[in-house]
Amino acid sequence: METSPHHHDQNNAQDDYIVFGAPQIEDDEVAEVVDSLRSGWLGTGPKVAAFEEQFRRYIGCDHAVALNSCTAGLHLSMLAAGLKPGDEVITTPMTFCATVNTILHVGATPVLVDCDRATCLIDPQRIEDAISPRTRAIVPVHLCGRPCNMDAMMDIARRHDLIVIEDAAHAIEAAYNGRKVGNISHFTCFSFYVTKNVITGEGGMVTTNNPDFAARIKMYGLHGMSHDAWARYSDNGYKHYAVLFPGFKYNMMDIQAAIGIHQLKRVEPNWQRRQQIWALYNEAFADLPVGLPAPVEPNTRHAHHLYTLFIDEERCGLARDQFIHELHKRGIGAGVHYVSVHLHPYYQQTFGYQPSDFPNARWISERTVSIPLSPRLTDEEVARVIEGVRGLAR
Ligand SMILES: *Cc1c(COP(=O)(O)O)cnc(C)c1O
Repeated sequence: METSPHHHDQNNAQDDYIVFGAPQIEDDEVAEVVDSLRSGWLGTGPKVAAFEEQFRRYIGCDHAVALNSCTAGLHLSMLAAGLKPGDEVITTPMTFCATVNTILHVGATPVLVDCDRATCLIDPQRIEDAISPRTRAIVPVHLCGRPCNMDAMMDIARRHDLIVIEDAAHAIEAAYNGRKVGNISHFTCFSFYVTKNVITGEGGMVTTNNPDFAARIKMYGLHGMSHDAWARYSDNGYKHYAVLFPGFKYNMMDIQAAIGIHQLKRVEPNWQRRQQIWALYNEAFADLPVGLPAPVEPNTRHAHHLYTLFIDEERCGLARDQFIHELHKRGIGAGVHYVSVHLHPYYQQTFGYQPSDFPNARWISERTVSIPLSPRLTDEEVARVIEGVRGLAR
């Protein structure tokens, strides 16, 4: 159940409903979008270039390519990595479907391995056990903003000559052992979807330190057109393009980048506010019969994208879905991140998964609930969420 803010509004006449993942849009974004509209430059232009450069500097990597979604970024990273039918890609079932769908889009075969029950992250030992002669890549997902063990990941990748493509949709601010997510592996894909930590409405970014990968993603994301290839034939102002690949239409618009430029300026204060709310929740829920997020591991920076409770019917007296329904009745929106990939019909029918195949991912699927963690939340709203949860889980 990927809850979208647009849907909640329709079932809720309440003015004070706390919408899950409500975006924080300020006057600067509004003015910048208006500026784009008035300038006449709506498509990919100077604001996309500026947003890419600012994002690249924030991450501290060599290249950042803006696209119209993180899903597009995952897809193009897999293409740029040269993945093709017959190749196996190891990833986690505890993720959003796009992680696995993009593996299928390049014709490769997803190989799921179970996650850890406490951290909800892919387990490096299980990755190692799943490696076959056909394995070409690993796609770790920094779920909820908690960084995966990237030291273990890169060590496995080096020993087995694998490409690492990180799904960092939740993890713009995350770091592992002193290195920022986005500056560690071959490709890192970020999302600017409305509920994420930095938003552009729809949007995504791929970071890499490999200039060839960056150039390929840029070209594949705009019809496979190159402006350089034929430039040498033209000595006047007009430059022909040459199509070098049957590419996709995945470019970001300046209207989107206009929002992102100002969102990115607030990325750190917003992270601090979420960290503060996170600490308040930890304290307020410590004595309840519910599971809380695992502590942040030493030498890591958690992006604090989602705060998840684990609601066990036997301990808590009500099932997770009832819990969400009761929160909703109290004017509090919640989300489920996620129902494991292997429990969805398409993947069951296509790959023959049984619910028992990934016991930890299944355990989490049945119990996890994400409560509001937007930097937009006022102290009063945070108090209301705490009161709502405490009233239900006794
Ligand atoms: C949101 C999300 C995506 C997809 O991002 P889009 O920008 O909407 O394409 C991929 N993976 C995870 C884990 C996500 O949460």
